[in-house]
Amino acid sequence: MSIATTNPATGRTVRTYEPFSPEQIDAAIDRSHLAYRNLRDTTVAQRAAWLDRAADLLDVERDEAARMATTEMGKTYAAARAEVTKCASACRFYARKAPEFLADEPADAASVGATRAFVRYQPIGPVLAVMPWNFPFWQVLRFAAPALMAGNTGLLKHASNVPQTALYLADLFRRAGFPEGAFGALLVGSDAVEAILSDPRVRAATLTGSERAGRAIAQIAGRELKKTVLELGGSDPFVVMPSADLDRAAEVATVARCQNNGQSCIAAKRFIVHTDVFDAFAERFAARMSALRVGDPMEDTTEVGPLVSEGGRAEIIDQVRDAVDLGATILCGGERPERDGWYYPPTVVTDLTPEMRMWTEEVFGPVAGLYRVSSYDEAIEVANGTAFGLGANAWTRDQREQERFAIDLEAGNVFVNGMTTSFPELPFGGVKNSGYGRELSALGMREFCNTKTVWVGGADDATWSVGTHAE
Ligand code: NAP
Repeated sequence: MSIATTNPATGRTVRTYEPFSPEQIDAAIDRSHLAYRNLRDTTVAQRAAWLDRAADLLDVERDEAARMATTEMGKTYAAARAEVTKCASACRFYARKAPEFLADEPADAASVGATRAFVRYQPIGPVLAVMPWNFPFWQVLRFAAPALMAGNTGLLKHASNVPQTALYLADLFRRAGFPEGAFGALLVGSDAVEAILSDPRVRAATLTGSERAGRAIAQIAGRELKKTVLELGGSDPFVVMPSADLDRAAEVATVARCQNNGQSCIAAKRFIVHTDVFDAFAERFAARMSALRVGDPMEDTTEVGPLVSEGGRAEIIDQVRDAVDLGATILCGGERPERDGWYYPPTVVTDLTPEMRMWTEEVFGPVAGLYRVSSYDEAIEVANGTAFGLGANAWTRDQREQERFAIDLEAGNVFVNGMTTSFPELPFGGVKNSGYGRELSALGMREFCNTKTVWVGGADDATWSVGTHAE
């Protein structure tokens, strides 16, 4: 895959880039390694000031940055602006919370025979970040903000179709004041990842992307004994029970499926509806899906823009065709429009059966699968009947059911009467083939920390002059 910006709204390539040579890659790793030695000795307060400055730059440059993302991957300009704003607030969150997240945690020294015992969180070194195009700012920032705050450095291998965003982000952290090399962008294809991750100077990797890429990176990291965090695909269930507020559920279902032009890991993809309310929900949902305005992502009125690539759209067309060939019914959409750009309409497909691709595969576009179930137990069986386990949504006003859904759904997060989203305050990640490890919250920051146990014996008659690590 070439490294290039190709506008999904027109199909035209705007700019291409030469991939880094092995020498350029080596120099970038070296800069990251040297920057780490410098960054780990800076204070939390200093790093927080730089991160706050990055947030200010994002706010000031929001529109320009958002236009870049829309041109590179087709999300609506409105969604891109909201994404940049969310990144700024995540930077501020980590700048504010790092002293608490990185503070030494005292232990009961007497019970372990010490005069002093505590846990300290320290950085581990350069971390390779292999990132996807779908939230080209957010996926990177939610790794970079906590990692840099902890004193690690980052090497970004962004998706090959968002090189301008990658270069912008590297430049952002440099302009914010972080030392040269603290956050670098590597313009490389996925074939360069093995050599980079095998380099002894690179200590760990985080990947947000497909299951296929997750397996490839986990294999290399396993061989090299390096820590990884994997945020992979999802096929999130959205369960609607008889007591649900159907109007609200249908409204949120439409956003949950079509956000980011249907290309979100945590988009609801399988709508599992109790038979008592199936027809009423299906009618409301299909009406709302058909009413969405599809068009130029730069227009303020557009709700759904194009898919990211011709290949991405071809995959959706194949998945829907496969379902229809095997007996599924299309309630709305399903027709590829005749126009430039990689558009596909919001679509609802029902009468799905297990031999269809849509039953088991992630559908990465604005296509909803609608499933009829006749009990709570059957809803759970269908919801959990997937290899993925990223997010899950359940709609019910029955408190007992709410409690059961929170326990029974196999997912990294469960949202009751709401749609899955991410917050800096809460951990984010998956189970099963959706990956492992957590981003965001204190847990996300500590994934790339050495959780060091310190045990001190002998007389405790002095205060350590270096103080706590988090000062
Ligand atoms: P992708 O093809 O896996 O690409 C993601 C990144 O991995 C890109 O930088 C890509 O580089 C790289 N990559 C691909 N194959 C690789 C390999 N064999 N070895 C090393 N690196 C490799 O995924 P995508 O199509 O861009 O993104 C969509 C997928 O990401 C969906 O499955 C979605 O659910 C998932 N996702 C998950 C989350 C989450 O938080 N769990 C969030 C967003 C997206 P190139 O671009 O150079 O190929």
